[in-house]
Amino acid sequence: MKRVLVTGGGGFIGSHLIEALLAKNYEVLCLDNFFTGRKGNIVHLLGDPRFEMIRHDVVEPIFLEVDQVYNLACPASPVHYQFNPVKTVKTNVMGAINMLGLAKRVKARILQASTSEVYGDPKVHPQKEDYWGHVNPVGMRSCYDEGKRVAETLMMDYHRSNKVDIRIVRIFNTYGPRMAFNDGRVVSNFVVQALKGQPLTIYGKGNQSRSFCYVSDMVAGLTAMMEQDEFIGPVNLGNPGEFTILELAEIIRELTGSKSEIVFNPLPPDDPVQRRPDIGLAREKLQWQPTVELKEGLQKTIEDFERRLREEDRP
Ligand code: NAD
Repeated sequence: MKRVLVTGGGGFIGSHLIEALLAKNYEVLCLDNFFTGRKGNIVHLLGDPRFEMIRHDVVEPIFLEVDQVYNLACPASPVHYQFNPVKTVKTNVMGAINMLGLAKRVKARILQASTSEVYGDPKVHPQKEDYWGHVNPVGMRSCYDEGKRVAETLMMDYHRSNKVDIRIVRIFNTYGPRMAFNDGRVVSNFVVQALKGQPLTIYGKGNQSRSFCYVSDMVAGLTAMMEQDEFIGPVNLGNPGEFTILELAEIIRELTGSKSEIVFNPLPPDDPVQRRPDIGLAREKLQWQPTVELKEGLQKTIEDFERRLREEDRP
């Protein structure tokens, strides 16, 4: 039986990944400091003898015997990663060094959860993996973007210098059950606003387009990358289907049956017109592509948000 370490396993994507790994009958160690993750995401797994929870910060070294490491620990949305930007850099850089050191020692395969943000404010659309990006090193988002870029660099250097068996995936916008309510992302904002009967706030006219990958598709991409022996990446994972922000707001209003009005606020200066992944490489190397339609994924997300909002309201 394989033993797998998932850092950031108490978070949104990590907790779904752990369920998928347990379903493959792996033993899973979940490491998390619960900065943005929640025990509620994994509490239902605690009775499973193949599952273990470790409260730990990836900034500190740790000694564990495992066959695979998924390194997901890092706050993922601007409100969270800008809360303590120095800590975000430490989590990305020292976390990667500690996990790579562990992988090197025990000869484990390690997968780094990188991000589309390594492309920064791209000058090329859509971005293929060989595009080097256009990143501001001194901006408010740099702690995340540059932190993830250094993590990728460390992965490649441990691979070249120490033969560590690495995988790098660049994750694009992912949504689904267990997203944090307060992460400031468009899906969670609209769903919470619609369910609470508050106005849905759109920045600009809402004709900017975005792509949304349902979490089960993302998890299938992560495990496909980990389980194959030929290709180390980096590889883009995301859903190339494009929707305007106005379309998204209307779909969420329809699915929730909400009477919320849609209000239009001024567009922030750095809001990109389009964001869409190029997943040609993932299709070719992993035979992977998303399968969950936006409406289907949103329906499941809304059901989860409804349940959690009800629990929050309980005295
Ligand atoms: P999340 O915030 O729900 O999960 C991150 C987890 O890491 C949380 O449980 C948090 O408590 C934990 N964590 C943070 N700092 C830590 C530290 N120092 N030590 C130990 N644990 C720590 O976010 P998510 O959306 O599940 O993202 C998971 C990974 O995927 C992140 O690395 C993120 O950068 C990447 N990613 C996510 C998206 C997305 O759309 N959700 C997009 C691109 C990349």
